[in-house]
Amino acid sequence: MWIVPESVIADLVDEHSAFDAIEASFAAMARGDAYNFPVVREALGAGRQYGFKSGLDRVGALLGVKAGGYFPGNADRGIPNHQSTVYLFDQDSGKPTAIVGGNLLTALRTAAASAISIAHLARKDAKVLGMVGAGHQSAFQMRAAVRQRQFDRVIGWNLHPDMLSRLAETAAELGLPFEAVDLDQLGAQADVIITITSSFDAILQDAHIRPGTHLACMGTDTKGKQELDPAILTRATVFTDEVAQSISIGEAQHAVGAGILHADAIVEIGAVINGTHHGRRDAQEITVFDGTGVGLQDLAVASRAVALAIERGLAQKIDF
Ligand code: NAD
Repeated sequence: MWIVPESVIADLVDEHSAFDAIEASFAAMARGDAYNFPVVREALGAGRQYGFKSGLDRVGALLGVKAGGYFPGNADRGIPNHQSTVYLFDQDSGKPTAIVGGNLLTALRTAAASAISIAHLARKDAKVLGMVGAGHQSAFQMRAAVRQRQFDRVIGWNLHPDMLSRLAETAAELGLPFEAVDLDQLGAQADVIITITSSFDAILQDAHIRPGTHLACMGTDTKGKQELDPAILTRATVFTDEVAQSISIGEAQHAVGAGILHADAIVEIGAVINGTHHGRRDAQEITVFDGTGVGLQDLAVASRAVALAIERGLAQKIDF
């Protein structure tokens, strides 16, 4: 069995390879070659969330689980609020094959998912990227997003204004101007909006969103969390990584629960990747990607990390 520690992941997986791995996973899910097992997610108290995301890709030969969660007190300890580890197994024998540090991989695979949604669903002429959220994930989100369209500026809003410097610094690193705006300005100016917060209430209201906007909603990954007014989802075409998660722990849980959106109307992004769904219809359509984060994303990037780590001598082998 191989161990690939967190410390070497940055040398093994980047935005490009994460994009390719996650796009292939979403495509495999939509073809029926791969599926995710039900998510286990437990509230541990004091805002801590812990759980397991797992799945099987029969064709891609992936079987495994990511164990981990969100520990909001970690920022004070100087470590990321997300802590996770991926465990890979041989799909024929069940023998463990690898333990892989999952923190950076989580950020890369989550950013890849919203980038894939932008690549396939945003208007080709999108120029303004709007960010809602300025936490740890937001920088990864911005870096992956700007590769997908010719954005000429980034605007952003965050509940805690002191965190906006992260967005300004990341935009500067990418050579883009950044402006902090209110939510009215954000909705009126942004062509693509990424939401990546820990909110439990709608932040963006229906009136904020103009026709033609693409929203990648990445923060809502647990029952009760929410970033959008459910009315937005009734005006939009809703895409997701996996419908079962979208309606139970994703942004669509609220609109479906309120009876104003039917689960059958939600489209898996893999269908767009595979060409079995046309994707965006026209320049006026609002598209929402409900990115809930599926176990197969974690397995896909972890498996790439293991293969490269072995090749480059960065993996430790242990008898198990
Ligand atoms: P973080 O703790 O570093 O930052 C949290 C962000 O949410 C900050 O912008 C903060 O200002 C904002 N926020 C906190 N409470 C809020 C509230 N009540 N209302 C509005 N905004 C609020 O977290 P992070 O690592 O950047 O992760 C952000 C969120 O993304 C988390 O909730 C996490 O669970 C989720 N996430 C989703 C996926 C996925 O695959 N969909 C993957 C990773 C993380």
